[in-house]
Amino acid sequence: MNEFKGISVSPGIAMGKVFLLKEEKYSIPKYAIQTKEIKAEIDRFSGAIENAIGEIKRLQEKSASEMGESEKQLLDSHISMLSDEEFTGDIEKKVNESKMNVEWILLQVIEELTKKINESSDEYIRARSLDIHDVSRRVMRHLLLRERVSLSDLSEEVILVAHNLLPSDAIGMNKKMVRGIAIDLGSKTSHTAIIARSFNIPSVMGLSEISQQASAGDDIIIDGNRGVVIVQPSAEVKIAYHTNLVKWHRHEKKLEELKKLKAETRDGKAIALSANIEVAEEVDAVIKHGADGIGLFRSEFLFMRSPSVPTEEEQYRTYKYVLERMKGKTVTIRTLDLGGEKMVPGLKFEAEDNPILGWRAVRYCLAKPDVFKTQLRAMLRASIHGNLEIMFPMISGIEELLKVLDVLDMVKHELKKEKTEFRKDIPVGAMIEVPSAALTSEIIAKKVDFFSIGTNDLIQYTIAVDRSNEKIAYLYEPFHPGVLRLIKMIIDNAHEAGIPVSMCGEMAGDPHAAVVLLGLHLDQFSMSSFSIPEIKNIIRNVSFSEAEEVGKAILKMKFSQEIDEYVRDWMEARLAVVTY
Ligand code: PEP
Ligand code: MG
Repeated sequence: MNEFKGISVSPGIAMGKVFLLKEEKYSIPKYAIQTKEIKAEIDRFSGAIENAIGEIKRLQEKSASEMGESEKQLLDSHISMLSDEEFTGDIEKKVNESKMNVEWILLQVIEELTKKINESSDEYIRARSLDIHDVSRRVMRHLLLRERVSLSDLSEEVILVAHNLLPSDAIGMNKKMVRGIAIDLGSKTSHTAIIARSFNIPSVMGLSEISQQASAGDDIIIDGNRGVVIVQPSAEVKIAYHTNLVKWHRHEKKLEELKKLKAETRDGKAIALSANIEVAEEVDAVIKHGADGIGLFRSEFLFMRSPSVPTEEEQYRTYKYVLERMKGKTVTIRTLDLGGEKMVPGLKFEAEDNPILGWRAVRYCLAKPDVFKTQLRAMLRASIHGNLEIMFPMISGIEELLKVLDVLDMVKHELKKEKTEFRKDIPVGAMIEVPSAALTSEIIAKKVDFFSIGTNDLIQYTIAVDRSNEKIAYLYEPFHPGVLRLIKMIIDNAHEAGIPVSMCGEMAGDPHAAVVLLGLHLDQFSMSSFSIPEIKNIIRNVSFSEAEEVGKAILKMKFSQEIDEYVRDWMEARLAVVTY
């Protein structure tokens, strides 16, 4: 028996036999051509491009009924890459200049492009090199006239094991037969991961060498909940996992049923459960998990994934798409929260001694009014397509908020002058994630329509513990009495001013914090869509009055551990149903 630890990219448990997808290896020929052969070589390349586009279009038609918006967009993006005249023109130019065969030139161009992308510090952009590999492999296959292994023909249930799984393979594979996926490469944000999640296929990626350690036909277990893969499990492990699998199916069925139900406590208090998204493609998962809206759209990812700063038009199209897809449900778009660990290829950030305490979020936006105003224009223009809320990150005090609101007013004024339409009643909120804002939330609350508590940062700044430093991770404690007191203060001050409070930090999706937050009178929880059914389940199984008692009790406690144990015991006594 061999156990491998990777990254859990899609939850669930799957057991079965390994289907090993072998890497297709091509020998790329390298030879010189004569001037008179250049035209024929370029024609050969155009033919391969045409065939590749035709193949993708056929895949689109074949899988049309089961494809979500993100898969459609992915295949469209592959067609756009192949139709991009800059890309094809560059290859033709190089064939002309170097008089080398087109396969060789294609290989050089792709290697150069991939190298550039892989140098990016942003995981999302690096994950796009897989799409380039996917598209170029398709063209190369047509140039070399090679047949391809098709995963659409799978006729029995398998666990797919591969070194790498290209996004178009993931779209084209027979999803009814693929029960689980384990691959050596891959990351949470790769398209293959997004597809696995949207088809609910338990998957673990980033396993390094699973494709070498597993053989076709081996027994294998994919534990997408723990990010673990077990090859040739022992009889005891198999039995334990069979039990887990039955529990998991029961849990999933229950969650599926929950989708249609309201997030309402036993004594009838309704709570809004919204989703956090980083990219527009996640909207499919948001809808699938029955979210009441989008409580946090981290708009900076739009900037981080694109090689240049997105134009107003590009931003407008993305916001419009999300607003339209959410069909009138609230979409809270957060203005750029760049800086710190989030950098953008097209915008210059100088190295800082303390970037987390540095030129971030609204601090950056106020210093770069062009970037800020362009984003606000795009948001305001998109507002007519749905139910938009605008939210400002890292507000540290009232002066900063007033400056930001002035810029918003300026942009509204400009749009009015141009007679460009936008909604006049867009709610505006402040993220409360800096202790000084929490301590002055009474003042800030009078100037906004809602608060959203960013616990990821609020905890790091309150306890002075870097949220990404492993060495001090034990100090990163959502149940620290100091953090809980601040949360209580923020909520009370907001309610005093008559505005609602959401929470969009990870704490909102933590099952162990749900009852505490409910008891502290939080109005809205915003989290990764996958956590929504579980939090809903908890809310539906407790009464608000009981949760209020928990809220009061924990505020009297002195130690984080004491609070943690109290909440765990309380949950275990009432909510055995949450653990699958
Ligand atoms: C937070 O700080 O809790 C938050 C939601 O923002 P981010 O994680 O993007 O900093
Ligand atoms: Mg934050």
